Amino acid sequence: MKDDIKRMLEARLARMSPSERRRLYNRAIKLRKQASKNRVIRGAGRRRKNHSSDYDGWDDSPKFEKARRRHGDSLDDYVLQLLLQDETIAEPEATTRDPATLRSGTIVAITAGGCTVHADGERIDCLLPPDISAVQISAVAVGDSVSFTMDGNSRPRVAEILPRRTTLSRPDPHIPERERLIAANIDAAVIVVSVKAPPLRIRLIDRYLIAIQRGGAKPLICVNKIDLLESEEERAGIDAMIEPYRAIGVPVVSASASTGTGIAELGSALRGLRCVVVGRSGVGKSSLLNAMCPDLALRTTEISEWADKGRHTTTTSALYELPGGIEIIDTPGVRQFGLWKIAREELRWYFPEFEAPSCACKFNDCSHTDEPACAVKRAVEREEIAPARYDTYLRILHTLDG
Ligand code: GDP
Ligand code: ZN
Repeated sequence: MKDDIKRMLEARLARMSPSERRRLYNRAIKLRKQASKNRVIRGAGRRRKNHSSDYDGWDDSPKFEKARRRHGDSLDDYVLQLLLQDETIAEPEATTRDPATLRSGTIVAITAGGCTVHADGERIDCLLPPDISAVQISAVAVGDSVSFTMDGNSRPRVAEILPRRTTLSRPDPHIPERERLIAANIDAAVIVVSVKAPPLRIRLIDRYLIAIQRGGAKPLICVNKIDLLESEEERAGIDAMIEPYRAIGVPVVSASASTGTGIAELGSALRGLRCVVVGRSGVGKSSLLNAMCPDLALRTTEISEWADKGRHTTTTSALYELPGGIEIIDTPGVRQFGLWKIAREELRWYFPEFEAPSCACKFNDCSHTDEPACAVKRAVEREEIAPARYDTYLRILHTLDG
């Protein structure tokens, strides 16, 4: 599939309602199961071994290419195929406003009722129209492409938010029934964790990974503060916690903002991409950005400061341009990360390592919990799927409405 068509289909998928998405994925599961049966028949009865599948498209190394050929296409490929069959891709509607006064740019910061737009090398403060500012946290995000009017007499005003390629969002911590957009049109999302102070929590990684996949960006994990590791045992302990993510194809960079270890590697992994940086307060997000680009001089917070007062320095998101064509959206640290309106049947699609084994589950709609002959549970018992990841799946599933 051509890259530009694929990107448009992914954008369409990201905009679908949960029920539309559910119907589409259920059709894709059936299609994939059929294709998988055909492959087994063609393979003259050779048994397919269960292996973890990979995130689509990030790592093109021969190893991943081989894995893909062995398992066939990922579920997402089937979803995109169906979308392509179902819909003709419409061009974005041409705007009818006067082109002489209409310009376009990218939102790099948001304030109450307004935003800063980066357009043709200029930073322009714009007003948000009332229908958008009334529901600001759900309607607009840093990274949004917008058109805005500049007629010279009044303050520039956003006219339209253009369709998004990708998003990252979560429920608002104060009003959970409201979606909070974290960033828009991002290629990658960097999940920053620290090995200590604060300690590494894999469940937060799992939750971020779900939200990132749903929104269409590629994930990367940055394990920071490795200078604090004091022994080989400690190092091995952290490696064991991170290994399941490497196994499903998520790139992992070990770094220390203090010593500079891994900073060049992080820079080259993100070259040319627009990324959002997420993670708990105090893991070193601002310090990493400063290490990548000292000119940014973002304020960082002493651990004792945030631990005592529960504060964090970054209170709003902002987009920064770094060397190497990297655009980074820094976000406020979170304590918890909720999942936006996720359905029970949808959750399993965001655990890529369930994909290959699930072809062998007895039931098409197996939830991989209490069903007999569940190949996913069997793979967990054999530790072909990391038990900690399966445990996260069960925990999240139990919090979702039946
Ligand atoms: P943020 O809340 O994620 O943006 O975290 P900050 O960048 O403000 O960092 C929080 C604290 O961790 C500060 O005291 C930093 O000096 C410290 N810190 C950040 N990165 C490292 C690192 O790689 N090693 C060590 N030892 N401390 C770090
Ligand atoms: Zn199952």
